[in-house]
Amino acid sequence: MTTAAKPRAAVELMEGYHSPQLDVEVRLNTNESPFAPPAAFTAALGAAIAALDLHRYPDRSAIELREALAAHHGVRRDQVFAANGSNEVLQTLLLAFAGPGRSTLVFEPTYALHSHIARLTGSEVVIGERSSDFTLDTDVAATFVAAAAPAVTFLCSPNNPTGCAERADVIEAVAAATPNLVVVDEAYGQFAPSSAIGDVREGGNVVVVRTFSKTWALAGLRLGYVVAPSDVVATLEKVALPYHLDAIKQVAGVLALGYDAEMRERVATLVAERERTFAALRALDVEVWPSDANFVLFRPRSRSGAEVWDALVERSIVVRNCASWPGLSGCLRVTIGTRDENDRFLEALTEVLAP
Ligand SMILES: *Cc1c(COP(=O)(O)O)cnc(C)c1O
Repeated sequence: MTTAAKPRAAVELMEGYHSPQLDVEVRLNTNESPFAPPAAFTAALGAAIAALDLHRYPDRSAIELREALAAHHGVRRDQVFAANGSNEVLQTLLLAFAGPGRSTLVFEPTYALHSHIARLTGSEVVIGERSSDFTLDTDVAATFVAAAAPAVTFLCSPNNPTGCAERADVIEAVAAATPNLVVVDEAYGQFAPSSAIGDVREGGNVVVVRTFSKTWALAGLRLGYVVAPSDVVATLEKVALPYHLDAIKQVAGVLALGYDAEMRERVATLVAERERTFAALRALDVEVWPSDANFVLFRPRSRSGAEVWDALVERSIVVRNCASWPGLSGCLRVTIGTRDENDRFLEALTEVLAP
């Protein structure tokens, strides 16, 4: 029997967001860090949790965490808003600035959650397209934004799942083409050569979203934040649920920022592994795109993406199947893992693609 209660149409028509959590040996499908955070961090976190007053509500404004994040980026505390993963930051931004009767613009192919959360929160989604090499042309993008006049425009730099960072002139031209919010999702920001955080200014319309899930090796913590003009942050605070950020997460975030050098080391290791994996992929029968992040997009030439995905799972390796995503037919995305994991992936793929 199904319940008689009907969900909202926007929800009923929607497929959930699924990245299968398979029990395999090599998991290269969700762009997590293959390395654990430093043991010293975990030990310090244990001690900090033991000292918390867990019978009390947490600091509702997460002052210490926001101060630490502000210091990390050289901005003010009132220019930072944190939430449970950057997806919740995106949801809060969309609830506040998009929603019913307003539109949200994405340039496909890009991160599926941008349009997904926009629709869930009642906004119409306008789709712009990237060039065939997945870059954005400055004039084409700016003209499109000006004509569509969206309430929120998403850019993703580096772009998931295609890998390339957005050029600074594209971000600036898009921001100049609209008075409304331009959200730059920098989930992979530390892997990239540049950041848009320098474009965030009081009275401006650029906001930059970051997460602890990738470079900080803390996907299990669920912590993300946005650097934004202070009036935008004040608006987000009105939308967030009271005490939305728990006390454990607040101390964990502060402590994690103390291990910046270790984070940079992990990033450097992964960048070297990414270049090695990219070079190896180029020698195989696949089309492959250069990446500024910790993943690489590729398209097998002689077999379908779905077949290759299945054959890799049979070898206990899971990558992301993007074959049905807009503009990505036949494509797969591999997260850069440890050297051993990347070798296992490359060996299996070589075997699968052998004539
Ligand atoms: C992984 C990812 C995120 C991270 O989401 P969290 O909710 O912080 O785990 C955000 N944006 C993009 C583009 C991503 O790839």
